[in-house]
Amino acid sequence: FFFFFFFFFPTFLPSQFSRTLPLTGIPLAATVAFSLSDLSRCSHSLTLDLAAMATSAFGTTTATSNYRNGGAANARNLPKNSSVKSKTGVRKSAPGSLGGGGAASSSSKDDAGVPGRVRVAVRLRPRNAEEMVADADFADCVELQPELKRLKLRKNNWDSDTYEFDEVLTEFASQKRVYEVVAKPVVESVLDGYNGTVMAYGQTGTGKTYTVGQLGDEDMAARGIMVRAMEDILAGVSLETDSISVSYMQLYMETIQDLLDPTNDNISIVEDHKTGDVSLPGATQVEIRDHHSFLEILKLGEDHRFAANTKLNTESSRSHAILMVNLRRFVKGKDSAVSSENSSSLQTVKSLKPSVVRKAKLVVVDLAGSERIHKSGSEGHTLEEAKSINLSLSALGKCINALAENSPHIPVRDSKLTRLLRDSFGGTARTSLVITVGPSPRHRGETASTIMFGQRAMKVENMLKLKEEFDYKSLSRRLDIQLDKLIAEHERQQKIFEDEIERLTAEAERQLSDAERNYVQALEKERSKYQKEYLESIKKLEEKWIMNQRKSVNDENKLRHKDVGSNVLPNAKESKVAPMEENPEMKKLLEKETAHRKAVEEEVWTLKTQLAESRRSEALQSSEIVKLRKMLDDEAHQKEKLEMEIGKLQSHLLQLSVEADETRRQLDSGGSEEVLSGLDSLLHQPRQPQSDNSETGDKESVAKLFEQVGLHKILSLLEAEDADVRIHAVKVVANLAAEDGALPWIVQNANNEAASVRRHIELALCHLAQHEANSRDMINGGAVWEMVRISRDCPREDIRSLAHRTLTSSHSFQAEMRRLG
Ligand code: ADP
Ligand code: MG
Repeated sequence: FFFFFFFFFPTFLPSQFSRTLPLTGIPLAATVAFSLSDLSRCSHSLTLDLAAMATSAFGTTTATSNYRNGGAANARNLPKNSSVKSKTGVRKSAPGSLGGGGAASSSSKDDAGVPGRVRVAVRLRPRNAEEMVADADFADCVELQPELKRLKLRKNNWDSDTYEFDEVLTEFASQKRVYEVVAKPVVESVLDGYNGTVMAYGQTGTGKTYTVGQLGDEDMAARGIMVRAMEDILAGVSLETDSISVSYMQLYMETIQDLLDPTNDNISIVEDHKTGDVSLPGATQVEIRDHHSFLEILKLGEDHRFAANTKLNTESSRSHAILMVNLRRFVKGKDSAVSSENSSSLQTVKSLKPSVVRKAKLVVVDLAGSERIHKSGSEGHTLEEAKSINLSLSALGKCINALAENSPHIPVRDSKLTRLLRDSFGGTARTSLVITVGPSPRHRGETASTIMFGQRAMKVENMLKLKEEFDYKSLSRRLDIQLDKLIAEHERQQKIFEDEIERLTAEAERQLSDAERNYVQALEKERSKYQKEYLESIKKLEEKWIMNQRKSVNDENKLRHKDVGSNVLPNAKESKVAPMEENPEMKKLLEKETAHRKAVEEEVWTLKTQLAESRRSEALQSSEIVKLRKMLDDEAHQKEKLEMEIGKLQSHLLQLSVEADETRRQLDSGGSEEVLSGLDSLLHQPRQPQSDNSETGDKESVAKLFEQVGLHKILSLLEAEDADVRIHAVKVVANLAAEDGALPWIVQNANNEAASVRRHIELALCHLAQHEANSRDMINGGAVWEMVRISRDCPREDIRSLAHRTLTSSHSFQAEMRRLG
């Protein structure tokens, strides 16, 4: 022991020695053994990142008494789990728990978790009014040494057992301090993602409910663990991403009742065998958004608890109150060490990591009174009932004993409570137990048993584990979004690519056509250049040739001259031939060109003559056409004349027949013989066939008629009784129609009431109208209207159609009708 101390903690030696030694008493060996094993475990766990979990658990008072769960500092606190009680000879190393010892320390924290013992604090209730009186003469049965974290349980006046706890809270300890040392480390651990349990154990009336469940609505300072825990949780989470839900239940006689819904009185426990999670899905879960709503929940639960217990005829001390807080937290930016190595290439991978959700559960249990029910009868319960009432609590004790003794079998399944708290003892939760004791020596036995319970619980080792799960849903959502983005991007890129291809194709085509055009241009230029050159050379050659020819002619002349004088011909001939012979090829070319030119000139000449020929024939044809046209015109004129002649002859005929009729009638009746004979003579008067003097002839005949008969007489005949006379008169009138003065009369009388007369007048009008020469007078005399009327209204079909024909065949009438609209 001394060696150990000197080796590890030389600086602490004096105080540790002086304080511990006198009190430790006999079982030093056991303590040392335990401490050593603890140390070895802790040294292993040094490799783990425990700083995060190592909250200031249990004790902030002295350096020596600081306990840090699993932390390296813990090793220095010598009597880590040392009970000074002489009778407890069962100190063993490494109490049984999940995967304890070296196995845990060698592997990563995610797999094995963090070792952590169940932390136990003891709280002494101050004497109450009754005890003040009743125990006035007696000393308390417990004496606390808080700075040593020790409790002395008085056996008698001269002997006491000393026990050491993780924290010793005197009757003066404030609620705040109790919360901070008992529950705060657990709450912080829950906020970090571990399950946590806080429970109060003790005899009825010792202050369990005061410690755990006090609402503190009247006195803020009196707020208990539940209220303060929720305050810390609300302060520690971000409600935008995280969620808090709460269930509140009561366990009594092995049934779980919902304190938030009294009708829900048999909630079953569901255990996930894979994860070891225990849940109560049947319980009402209320989402907590603020502290006020949580207080309301607690109050509601309390009311329901009271009502339920009244109904069951029991006390709340017989039931366990269980508050379950479920926390879901999003862990943002939780990157592994890999990302820092190669951040750029892993950017995508990093962003595709599913976000992590940490699920943690805080269970706060106000246990039933720990006192044994021997007075079951007096409370109106049968023994069986009493057993059942205490079943859960005794099962808890048994489990803790088994765990403390490192037993291979932990009877967790014996009760609902142990099933529910399965994770809190020997599991993966961080657990704090506060045991409450009263000062009265009258309850020394219960106090002792409570202390023993606490002592055994201290040996229970837990292995904390993070309850993390990947949020695959949101990852999938994120992947979907990313996929959609990529698809859109791909589509965009494709479009750009296609556009680029199109552009390049167009460009290539343009360049191709440019090149082609350039090529053609160059070709053309080259061609014209060569042509020009060729023509120039031809021209030059021609000039040369002409010059040569001239020269040769001159030479010849000279020669001829010389020939006459002197005989130097051969020389001259030589000089003439020489240049030609100089360039025989050129000569050949020249000859060829000359021949070609001649041929072309000949062709041009032929074409010219052909053109002149065709022009001549064309002129001939056109003069022929002119001649024919003239002939046609003459013919038309002739035709018109003849037609007029016919018209005149027709009217003459009419006149003659009228005259004949008149003469006949005169012969018959003798009354108007004179007139008729006059008429007849007029009618039978031979007419001049020549158009030239026909007008004068007509005028003469009319004048004659007027002389002989008088127009008035003729007109009066129109009213004659005899139809024949009337008709005859009309015929005469018709014949006279072309004469001056007759037309207006005819037009006026065209609408004569007497049908027979009218018919003749109408007929006369039609005849008159057939001569284009009359058209002017007729139009001026208003005859067109009459003609139109006749063509429409005349009862005689033939006259109607005659009028119509006449109107439509005359251009003048048509024009007039158009003018009149
Ligand atoms: P339990 O729940 O263990 O049966 P309670 O919490 O109901 O005990 O406490 C019994 C009585 O003692 C209550 O009146 C309570 O106010 C009082 N009491 C308990 N602990 C303390 C304390 N630390 N200081 C003052 N009064 C206390
Ligand atoms: Mg209570």
